[in-house]
Amino acid sequence: MRTEAFPPTEDRPRSVTILGVTGSIGASTVDLVLQAPACYRVEAVTAQSRVDALAEAALALRARLAVIGESGRLPDLRERLAGSGIEAAGGADALVEAAARPVDWTMAAIVGAAGLAPTMAAIGNGRMVALANKECLVCAGPLLMRAVEASGTALLPVDSEHNAIFQCLAAARLDEVDRLILTASGGPFRAATLDAMRQATPAEAVRHPNWRMGAKISVDSATLMNKGLELIEAHHLFAMPEPLIEVLVHPQSVVHSLVAFKDGSLLAQLGPSDMRVPIAHALGWPGRLRTDHPKLDLAAIARLDFAPPDTGRFPALALARAALRQGGAAPTMLNAANEVAVDAFLAGEIGFLDIAAVVGRVLDGEPPCRIDTLDAVLEVDARARAAARRHLDHRPLVGTQR
Ligand code: NDP
Ligand code: MG
Repeated sequence: MRTEAFPPTEDRPRSVTILGVTGSIGASTVDLVLQAPACYRVEAVTAQSRVDALAEAALALRARLAVIGESGRLPDLRERLAGSGIEAAGGADALVEAAARPVDWTMAAIVGAAGLAPTMAAIGNGRMVALANKECLVCAGPLLMRAVEASGTALLPVDSEHNAIFQCLAAARLDEVDRLILTASGGPFRAATLDAMRQATPAEAVRHPNWRMGAKISVDSATLMNKGLELIEAHHLFAMPEPLIEVLVHPQSVVHSLVAFKDGSLLAQLGPSDMRVPIAHALGWPGRLRTDHPKLDLAAIARLDFAPPDTGRFPALALARAALRQGGAAPTMLNAANEVAVDAFLAGEIGFLDIAAVVGRVLDGEPPCRIDTLDAVLEVDARARAAARRHLDHRPLVGTQR
């Protein structure tokens, strides 16, 4: 049964945990909490390796617990928190234990499938989970949504497109919906030639025209794999069949997504390209927070453009659609192979176009199978990572190595 939720106020402060507090989403969440600190009580904050940033966030938020994923860095964390009264812990199990501590609201903002176990632990609480970590839903969608259902958790989408759809659906019934329309900025290579994309460097790929984000999602935005992951995310969050989820390129990133209704009406959510807007929506839910970040000036923007995506230059989108249609282990494999390929690209080991090529090869090489348990997800994830690494070793792929 779902517990009644109240917006955070000074009279009724909301207890919160921030998983991935040192990242881009984590920092925006910290900013919002510090805009009204009396409305929150911070239980736990976590990071993987950046002890300085973790300690700084824990101290600023007066958290009760700070957890570092790499246990070797725990002594360093303890030293930085000495005398503060903040508890310190380290290691993968400690991340899950921190996520399982009962709180009203958890921000799930770890990057990649590494966030799955902590996010599942937070869902086990049965309160509110703000989900930024889309890879969780991609690699274990049915499992995660069953856990959400069973625990009565309010799963609040933070990804800007899904948060937009969530807002547009607030007063609607799913059977009134004709289709969902996810907008995509098109990324830094929206108008680039295939040759320029083949030669693209990591620095060029992470230079997103509209958003400042972590390195992994920035590369995903450049390949359009991000939109592919979001297609799978939307399918699970809104129980929408794959053919009824459209993608539309919208370079200004002002319309964050739309819902088309059966009567021909389109509802959209608009806002600045600032993740604090969807995070604030999730943080204030079921109410709305008054925030102090800059608001949208439509007159200054003046025009909004829309175009269909170019699936020729961006094969990742078609790969994600195919994986979603295939179901079973395919989305898990797609996600795992993509994580390995993006890491390899960022490390300068493969070219930009090789990312989708590696993912395609991993998907081609595996027979379809069902995955019903967390262990099965983790096993498929590990197998797909190993397969992707083998493909990295068998170059050339399609791109040009630098
Ligand atoms: P960042 O890379 O900026 O931050 C990632 C966070 O996760 C950091 O706190 C990092 O710790 C932690 N982390 C990294 N690896 C691990 C691990 N193996 N185990 C536990 N923690 C880990 O990512 P973003 O904030 O950009 O993205 C976070 C998630 O939100 C992603 O899933 C992304 O797709 C999604 N998202 C992000 C958006 C954005 O605008 N940034 C928009 C929409 C969705 P450390 O700093 O110590 O490495
Ligand atoms: Mg998004």
